[in-house]
Amino acid sequence: MPEPVFCVTIDVEEWFQVENLRSHFPPETWERAERRLDFSMQRIFDTLESEKVAGATFFVLGWIAERSPDWVRRMVDAGYEVASHGMDHVSNFDQTAEQRAWNLSQSKNFWKRFPARR
Ligand SMILES: [Zn+2]
Repeated sequence: MPEPVFCVTIDVEEWFQVENLRSHFPPETWERAERRLDFSMQRIFDTLESEKVAGATFFVLGWIAERSPDWVRRMVDAGYEVASHGMDHVSNFDQTAEQRAWNLSQSKNFWKRFPARR
């Protein structure tokens, strides 16, 4: 019997950016909040390696990628798929058509900075 193949998807955002904490941590407070991304990302990378996960897609928030481009580069260099999780973590349902267009255009331009190295 063949070995099972594990693939995962991971949203990459800070703990204070989750929807259920938005009233306590609105976007204007994010710059002052304690960041824990480095700790979380190292654990995720270690787990992917130790569990021999075949593939992973990281949905990275633009806010994170702007401040932690080294993590995005590590994802790309490790061969993982990197996708946009929007720029500012606002639900599609809560955006106007103009905001959605801005988010898509910003995301498309931003992700061009991280081409895959082959
Ligand atoms: Zn999210």
